[in-house]
Amino acid sequence: MTILVDMDDTIEQLLKAWISRVNEKYGRSATLDDITGWDVQAPYPGLTREQVYGVTGEPGFWKTVEPMPGAAEGLQHLIAEGHEIFIVTATPYEHMLEKMSELLFKYFPFLTWDQVIITSRKQMVRGDVLIDDGIHNLEGGSYRKILFTAPHNRFYDAEANGMIRVHNWDEIIRAIDSISPSQSKEEES
Ligand SMILES: [Mg+2]
Repeated sequence: MTILVDMDDTIEQLLKAWISRVNEKYGRSATLDDITGWDVQAPYPGLTREQVYGVTGEPGFWKTVEPMPGAAEGLQHLIAEGHEIFIVTATPYEHMLEKMSELLFKYFPFLTWDQVIITSRKQMVRGDVLIDDGIHNLEGGSYRKILFTAPHNRFYDAEANGMIRVHNWDEIIRAIDSISPSQSKEEES
């Protein structure tokens, strides 16, 4: 299968580093539990959007983002099973060089630039499956939908919306394996 994989908070832990940096810079103590929606500014009353979102553009920020546990092993497993992997990310162009060199290709050196698709319109991309923590990226897509649990999507009814909710990379592998056999049968018939 062609498997599309989101970057932020799917193969790395952006939110954790982001909250940590805003807390450090502005003397706050928000936690991941304080994030209940897509807007990271919400847990920071009194801070401007520029202050909260600006930290992700600070030189060196992406070096502080850690990989998601199990993501590198999981991607390598899927590749070994014969799946084709594409990283699909809405990364702003200003962050591109540092984010790719200091994060993606540092922790996932088996991936190449040919496997990276930059877009904020993921529904335009063709693939059998999309793994993403962003509900708005999954909704309306023609791919099978795997929702990676994150603080901002925890109250969303994934099943009612045709998605498989997963909590870690082991569950992603199981979800993909559960899709693969039926998918190949459909192709045969
Ligand atoms: Mg994401």
